[in-house]
Amino acid sequence: MIQYIPGGGRFLYSAFSLFNNRDIIAFFENLGIALKEEDNGRMFPVSDKAKTVVDALIGKARSLGVRLLTHHPVQEVLFAENGVQGVKLTTGEQIEAKSVIIATGGNLSRIPVNRDGYPWAIAAGHTITELYPTEVPIISKEPFITDRSLQGLSLRNVKLAVINAKGKTVVAHQGDMIFTHFGLSGPIALRCSGFIRGVKKKSGSNEVRLTLDLFPEMSQAGLDAYLRGLLADEPKKTLKNVLKGTIPERLLPILFERSDLSGETTFEHLPKEPWLAFTANLKNFSIMVTGTRPFEEAFVTGGGIHLKEISPQTMESKLMPGLFFCGEVLDIHGYTGGYNITAAFATGYTAGHHAGLLAQGH
Ligand SMILES: Cc1cc2nc3c(=O)[nH]c(=O)nc-3n(C[C@H](O)[C@H](O)[C@H](O)COP(=O)(O)OP(=O)(O)OC[C@H]3O[C@@H](n4cnc5c(N)ncnc54)[C@H](O)[C@@H]3O)c2cc1C
Repeated sequence: MIQYIPGGGRFLYSAFSLFNNRDIIAFFENLGIALKEEDNGRMFPVSDKAKTVVDALIGKARSLGVRLLTHHPVQEVLFAENGVQGVKLTTGEQIEAKSVIIATGGNLSRIPVNRDGYPWAIAAGHTITELYPTEVPIISKEPFITDRSLQGLSLRNVKLAVINAKGKTVVAHQGDMIFTHFGLSGPIALRCSGFIRGVKKKSGSNEVRLTLDLFPEMSQAGLDAYLRGLLADEPKKTLKNVLKGTIPERLLPILFERSDLSGETTFEHLPKEPWLAFTANLKNFSIMVTGTRPFEEAFVTGGGIHLKEISPQTMESKLMPGLFFCGEVLDIHGYTGGYNITAAFATGYTAGHHAGLLAQGH
């Protein structure tokens, strides 16, 4: 689980030992929700409705005697010198509490009051690491992006890698992606997106190099032999015409240009060096990118409450007794596919459990 949560995943060992993905499944099944598994182990209610989950959670809370106040935004968390005191609602009502959990989510909300978790944490002495959009499409100013020649082209089972200034691969993901009018999107582009800011910052450059491997299951030598085989079968046909069945046709002119190879040539006249460059480009197609799209288009917030200031065993603040945090407001971010929700449930359970114990004087 932790390898799918590149932002702060290791902080979650304790929380997952208390409440992990299997516990989440058991928890909802015990609430009477029938679950089904879809691709990559993702779990959904059989009803396919989020409302089923919400209703079950609200029903359970009510059955335990929890007082629920919806449409009552919290304006302020109240602190005394020795710990939290409670909360003040926008209605002016104050609610006293020995423990308070800040569970306000990330920075994606369009509703300003829903981003209040950060100022409350700052008021308690916490640090917020830089917030940035992650699991978000990537921007590129490459000519083939700006002239829109690849817009809408989707690639299946390719490998995209983020390369640092030293030429080392920071992260690589294999799967599907799509070229858009501004850059790259699709599952593997989203997964790579969270690493771009860090590489850019470290190198001080405005651009980061991504590399695309169009044939991740083959070595360059294997690919060379495979393509030569195809060309040899039709030695009088142009490269362009033979290869368009194997390589996306819209990519071919760019690949030919980058390799100094003419698409009009034939197998009989295949020039050695340009052909080598061509197969190298198929395995290592460089795409310079400048950054990512904004929060409005992101699935997840990178950055948040500094994890060094939170106890991983309880989710309680190390700075303000009785103050707890859980979910995306923390400096934790995972890949899409359920990992953020899993992290939110695990930290939520841990915070709830310990906040409850504290409130009961344990
Ligand atoms: C479009 C979209 C798709 C996503 N897809 C995935 C996915 O496939 N897989 C995945 O793992 N994650 C996904 N995520 C991320 C995931 O939804 C979040 O990580 C997760 O919901 C975070 O849970 P949370 O409880 O911390 O915060 P949230 O779910 O954001 O809940 C925060 C709650 O706090 C309330 N709140 C905020 N301020 C106040 C206040 N002042 N007073 C009272 N209440 C307040 C808000 O109204 C909100 O209900 C997606 C996110 C988006 C936006």
